[in-house]
Amino acid sequence: MRINRALRLAIGALALSVAAATAACGGGDDRSALDHAQDGRLTIGIKFDQPGLGQRNTNGSFSGFDVEVAKYVAAKLGVQPDGITFKEAPSAQRESLIENGQVDFVVATYSINDQRKEKVDFAGPYYVAGQKLLVRAENTDITGPNTLAGKTICSVKGSTPAQRIEKEFPDTQLQAYDTYSLCLEGLNSGAVDAVTTDDIILAGYASQSPGKYKVVGDRFSTENYGIGLMKGDRDSRDRINDAIEEMIDEGAWEKAFQESVGRAADYPTPPAPKVDRY
Ligand code: GLU
Repeated sequence: MRINRALRLAIGALALSVAAATAACGGGDDRSALDHAQDGRLTIGIKFDQPGLGQRNTNGSFSGFDVEVAKYVAAKLGVQPDGITFKEAPSAQRESLIENGQVDFVVATYSINDQRKEKVDFAGPYYVAGQKLLVRAENTDITGPNTLAGKTICSVKGSTPAQRIEKEFPDTQLQAYDTYSLCLEGLNSGAVDAVTTDDIILAGYASQSPGKYKVVGDRFSTENYGIGLMKGDRDSRDRINDAIEEMIDEGAWEKAFQESVGRAADYPTPPAPKVDRY
């Protein structure tokens, strides 16, 4: 009896220290997205402040194209909407949220690129966007990427558009904030001359405040949106790729796009991309 009790205490202490160690790593565990899906629960990283794409509404609900893609993929993995926990995934935190196991995957206007692929894997692409510029409606001197010399342009830390301004536009001052909604505040106050990121994100902001802003110039990058997940988790990636293909083939992709960005920003539905099973 006495030995049993000592053993139980030792096991209890061990369990506590494992729990503490897990919490210290950010609360995640090292089980795969498919393992969590089997328990009927998934934690998915999305944006909370990008209208038409990933938004937390005032009543606590979530909406946008990324949210619809996330829900569709979750359903194909056997997880119903009430089993999904949406977690905010700001641009600069996406890789670490995945690496630390704090999310199962990220659906957050997340461009696939080689630098990110060193840390995470990507399913998709499920959408192709491109970098553009957003200015105040009365602005006439910024008309495209070749009019940015001497200007102060806002983008978001850890985003590809911010990196592009830093690298390819040496005469332009980059103001990097944590979120695009903070960039919009800077644009309103006059602290910055323009906001730059993907066209589809800018269209969402412009449509929220009719007449206040305009999106200008041609696209000056190609942004393939992927679903980011734990590096090396091939099984989850294959299943997520299957789900994206089914969403496109069944017409659910087009419907989701039309009812989110399409409706919010009066944005035409482009052709769906082809999934890349690298
Ligand atoms: N698609 C770009 C990126 O992944 C910009 C959008 C964003 O910051 O979420 O960095």
